[in-house]
Amino acid sequence: MAYDFDLYVIGAGSGGVRAARFAAGFGAKVAVAESRYLGGTCVNVGCVPKKLLVYGAHFAEDFEQSSGFGWTPGEAKFDWATLIANKDREINRLNGIYRNLLVNSGVTLHEGHARIVDPNTVEINGERYTAKNILIATGGWPQIPEIPGHEHAISSNQAFFLKELPKRVVVVGGGYIAVEFAGIFHGLGAETTLLYRGELFLRGFDGSVRKHLQEELTKRGMNLQFNSDIERIDKQSDGSLKVTLKDGRELEADCVFYATGRRPMLDNLGLENTGVKLDKKGFIEVDEQYQTTEPSILALGDVIGRVQLTPVALAEGMAVARRLFKPEQYRPVDYKMIPTAVFSLPNIGTVGLSEEEAREAGHEVQIFESRFRPMKLTLTDCQERTLMKLVVDAKTDKVLGCHMVGPDAGEIVQGLAIALKAGATKRDFDETIGVHPTAAEEFVTMRTPVNA
Ligand code: FAD
Ligand code: NDP
Repeated sequence: MAYDFDLYVIGAGSGGVRAARFAAGFGAKVAVAESRYLGGTCVNVGCVPKKLLVYGAHFAEDFEQSSGFGWTPGEAKFDWATLIANKDREINRLNGIYRNLLVNSGVTLHEGHARIVDPNTVEINGERYTAKNILIATGGWPQIPEIPGHEHAISSNQAFFLKELPKRVVVVGGGYIAVEFAGIFHGLGAETTLLYRGELFLRGFDGSVRKHLQEELTKRGMNLQFNSDIERIDKQSDGSLKVTLKDGRELEADCVFYATGRRPMLDNLGLENTGVKLDKKGFIEVDEQYQTTEPSILALGDVIGRVQLTPVALAEGMAVARRLFKPEQYRPVDYKMIPTAVFSLPNIGTVGLSEEEAREAGHEVQIFESRFRPMKLTLTDCQERTLMKLVVDAKTDKVLGCHMVGPDAGEIVQGLAIALKAGATKRDFDETIGVHPTAAEEFVTMRTPVNA
């Protein structure tokens, strides 16, 4: 049967655009549908605008610390509207770049909501198109628990477009988004409470990293409330919000921001017209080659709920394009040693196993840990400390994990990830000459295990 397209991609986010562009580059006839914004979550309401706001929040410290270096900065004033307008301009520019990337690579762009009507047909804007393969790359959507008054809360989707910076913010959650946005609001001057239901936030990260960040955020004056959860939110007559916690305590806020995870975006996608199955958590079930339980339909990125990171969606997009149209170049995505950063203030950078994971996996471990005051702060009153940690297999000497909390942790860990991926041993680290004076050199100069 002749199809309109070889591949119909639903969703022009990180994974969808990558798959569409490369498939077209390999000679396939490709269409991509996008209902909201080109570039998807990362470009519009994720990584990119978030990082711009983190940069904005960081200036507060730079102004404060500059006096130690002889500067007398004027009175620093912050204008949220300017930051948001400039951020929007940059995102518009990126939307245009994504449009050009698609069009210039020969992909047909359909702007509208796409719905699957049968395993080889997509309906969009009242038209139907057939395709040999359909790729679902529809991403995720914030999930807010339906507590009484949840309609007064916002998610990351709205946070990027607030008209003004709230004076008092309660951020709920203990994952990436909660920690990053608490840092943004706090840095920009809002009175910020971070509320997490468990003992300590960032479950799954190395224990030393979690504790270190807790100490640093406390030093900075952020109000951390662990073992806390919200019972209800009530809007008061003056427009402010009364937050009642399950233990009866009450908090006043101007904004309650929920960052309690993301669900797969499957709304009105027409999966009922296919044999596509969902896994236990409601994400699309795929095999190791992103094939769903419907032979003509594939899925990747946040909608399959594996590792919800842009570079992972990109790698999966590349793998799908190669698998379908350049099988001789196909390589499976390696989910081991994925480096990641949390752009909290200070940043976290991590790659490989945490100490807890390494022990659980049966490794006998040597732990190298260093905490120090970064050189840049020695002329300032700032008492921030950096943490660096290596988890090493005592038997093989292989470095199993690198963890850092401190300025530019993400930048530093990206380089270390290559070493770990290549199987570097602690001896390789020891024999690597440092770059002096940097914070990063500490990773090659830690000599004595702390658990020796
Ligand atoms: P998406 O990028 O979400 O793209 C899906 C696209 O599909 C969307 O554009 C959507 O509009 C479209 N769509 C959905 N349904 C339909 C339909 N039926 N028809 C047509 N179009 C449809 N990751 C990092 O690596 N680093 C970070 O710093 C980082 N920061 C983040 C910060 C925030 C606040 C958030 C929310 C996420 C962040 N992420 C970060 C995660 C990252 O954004 C996602 O992992 C990534 O965008 C997933 O890509 P994707 O292609 O699966 O989906
Ligand atoms: P996460 O899964 O990282 O964290 C969700 C948090 O919300 C957890 O602390 C969880 O607690 C808590 N939680 C879940 N349900 C509830 C509930 N009903 N009530 C109270 N608390 C709850 O999700 P995020 O929303 O922060 O981010 C989504 C994903 O996006 C991330 O996992 C990451 O993959 C990606 N991302 C990446 C970034 C980066 O690379 N820098 C930045 C932002 C997002 P518990 O731990 O107890 O389950």
